[in-house]
Amino acid sequence: CGSSDDGNVKKIYVGTNAEFAPFEFLKDGKTVGFDMELIEEISKEIGIDIEIKDMSFDGLLPALQAKKIDMIIAGMTSTEERKKSVNFTNSYYIANQVIITAKELGNIATFDELKGKKVGVILGFTGDVVVSKIDGVEVKKYNAGYVAIMDLKAGKIDAVVLDSEPAKNFIKNNDGIKIASAKGDKEEYAMAVYKDNIELLEKINKALMVLKENGTYDGLLKKWF
Ligand code: GLN
Repeated sequence: CGSSDDGNVKKIYVGTNAEFAPFEFLKDGKTVGFDMELIEEISKEIGIDIEIKDMSFDGLLPALQAKKIDMIIAGMTSTEERKKSVNFTNSYYIANQVIITAKELGNIATFDELKGKKVGVILGFTGDVVVSKIDGVEVKKYNAGYVAIMDLKAGKIDAVVLDSEPAKNFIKNNDGIKIASAKGDKEEYAMAVYKDNIELLEKINKALMVLKENGTYDGLLKKWF
């Protein structure tokens, strides 16, 4: 991708899935959010141009492995499974899975209480993995979070399992739904690069450290959360 004559990479392609507010979402046709500003600051720090490629979440890892993109920033959890195919940077955010239900439903205090319920997850998300491991759950897979939320509001499913911050965002913008008290395991969000791109991995980690030290990272947290 984008090499100049002297062999230095001038531009990299950054894959995301802009359906994950407040990390990445579309506003007036532009990809905005915490991740988008973080990668913008990282690229300035490294001295490289970036071009955002918006695609489906489950298309991100295959695109990276095929080197169609140089990296991913997409609120992506650095799971052991994914580490087999890509390299992750140091983490930049800690999250967990939560359960969204209709307001009328009694509280759900543990993930095991999803047994016997119809639960919406988004294809390929960590929530999908977590819920699919629980016996006796009727899992319904969606391509996008907002579609699952629509079905929840229409009473077609009992719950949706999703990352904490996007869940809060859905609650803010939709009546009649709430977050249950059950808390999933901690998940670390990290950026991904392809296996042999150690150079980019190290540059990103270094830039991330600088942004954490100089207050830029905290400024972004304050702005978006
Ligand atoms: N953190 C979740 C995962 O990695 C969801 C990420 C996302 O939708 N952007 O699967």
